[in-house]
Amino acid sequence: MSTAYFSHADCRLHDMGRGHPECPQRLAAIDDQLISSGIDIALDRHDAPLVSLKDVELAHSAGYVANLKDQLEQVEASGEPRALDPDTVAGPGTWRAALRAAGAAVAATDAVIDGRAENAFCAVRPPGHHATRDETMGFCFFNNVAIAARHALDVRGLARVAVIDFDVHHGNGTEDILAGDERALMVSFFQHPLYPYSGAVPKGTNMVNLPIPPYTRGAELREMIEAQWMPALERFRPEMIFISAGFDAHREDDLGQLGLVEADYEWITRRVKDIADRHAKGRIVSCLEGGYNLSALARSVVAHLRVLAGV
Ligand SMILES: [Zn+2]
Repeated sequence: MSTAYFSHADCRLHDMGRGHPECPQRLAAIDDQLISSGIDIALDRHDAPLVSLKDVELAHSAGYVANLKDQLEQVEASGEPRALDPDTVAGPGTWRAALRAAGAAVAATDAVIDGRAENAFCAVRPPGHHATRDETMGFCFFNNVAIAARHALDVRGLARVAVIDFDVHHGNGTEDILAGDERALMVSFFQHPLYPYSGAVPKGTNMVNLPIPPYTRGAELREMIEAQWMPALERFRPEMIFISAGFDAHREDDLGQLGLVEADYEWITRRVKDIADRHAKGRIVSCLEGGYNLSALARSVVAHLRVLAGV
């Protein structure tokens, strides 16, 4: 079985303005590196469909979804960018990009559950893990991973799913949506203090949060992951694993001050894959979150995909 790769040209139409780090070139850089590394041939490529708003409403309130649709369709029609919060700007391509990003996550989930792929990676933007049940935040509109996790639970009938978040920023949106839902276990690390300054006190007993001081390097982080994430994941025995794959904890990334390198992403992915192989029939759906140094991002995605694809 293969690793499915979901993306869509529409994801490059979302543009938050000149010089913004969450830029369309991120996906182009990943694509270039997939080809030059040769890993491209090991991936089964799919165009992401548009998400159904019914699926979106498994993670976001109906009022939020209706309001966002209204606002983003106005922006699409007028061509005038609009800031929805201090960090999150919508442009004319944002609505379609957001529908594709969440659509990729849900389609990847179905492909993996149906056995059409062993695991999947979604190269999408906008990212999702800061979007809460009722608010856009931190470059995020729809919480792609939370939507896919709820789709696996509520629509596909899985009993337990785990969410792994290794972005340098705390996945406050995913925590907001999944805290208290005992069918989900979320494990994460994040630089602290750093935007969005949350996570030091978990919002639910199903959250394993590791706040990490700036300048922590991979070796120390691996020890913490081994001691804190792994026993919780082993106990939980997830039937499927979702990854909020942000690569901004890389030491070349200027949005954070952690010291990870490609080998650390490879190691983390291998440990997650071990859990998935033991408990979840290997089922993993990984979705791109942050990662803003284009070269480090692309190299780290390849390291992540090498493990997922087993090449
Ligand atoms: Zn981030």
